Amino acid sequence: MLKLSNIHTYYGNIHALKGIDLEVKEGEIISLIGANGAGKSTALMTTSGIVPAKRGRIEFKGLDITAMPPEEIVKMGICQVPEGRRIFPYLTVAENLDMGAFLRNDTNNITKDLDYVYTLFPILAERKNQAGGTLSGGEQQMLAISRALMSRPTVLLLDEPSLGLAPLIVKQIFSIIKKINEEQNTTIFIVEQNANLALKKAHRGYVMENGVITLTDTGTNLLANEDVKKAYLGI
Ligand code: ATP
Repeated sequence: MLKLSNIHTYYGNIHALKGIDLEVKEGEIISLIGANGAGKSTALMTTSGIVPAKRGRIEFKGLDITAMPPEEIVKMGICQVPEGRRIFPYLTVAENLDMGAFLRNDTNNITKDLDYVYTLFPILAERKNQAGGTLSGGEQQMLAISRALMSRPTVLLLDEPSLGLAPLIVKQIFSIIKKINEEQNTTIFIVEQNANLALKKAHRGYVMENGVITLTDTGTNLLANEDVKKAYLGI
């Protein structure tokens, strides 16, 4: 569904992605793990067109999207939940969710999708008239994921959904990510420092170091891999 081939991305002189190859198949959850500064966020931002690749090719459903602007990539069905969530703090929960659907005009389905996200995260229904910025960190992450779902994405890109959240909330959010994948058949590409949970929920994973992919396998095999255990699982 989504294929990155030999992707090179730069920030000025900084060579952040040094030729990465990565594939996300339809219906899969893929986790990309790695240390701080490895290039994980850059891999997501290059996929969504925010930081364009200098070399290489990105294909989505067989189409070359490498040079496409981010707004076109969103329209094609790839939606990113950015690191740090970036919800609209002064808009209410309901208004934030409306913003997620702004490219759509299928009113009946929008209502259905709204009901669906409120079922996934009942707390958002309780807080629908509250300003987004007054929600807790975990609730804001739920809102950011829900806002992305309101665009009915084919592929959901999640940048560090666990960042700064309490372990219990992180567990809850990952379970719901899995649920979305199973119920909606949404393909999911997660970038995470919480390697343990990210690999547990993933069908396959990739390990990244200094801008290159060093390892790829099923989530289960990576969890059992001695190098991964030492470097990323603290075992
Ligand atoms: P983290 O988990 O800490 O977010 P990461 O694996 O997501 O790390 P990136 O944020 O992709 O890593 O950063 C990869 C490299 O690119 C790092 O060396 C970083 O300093 C550099 N980098 C990232 N964003 C920029 C930027 N806007 N300008 C210059 N360099 C950047």
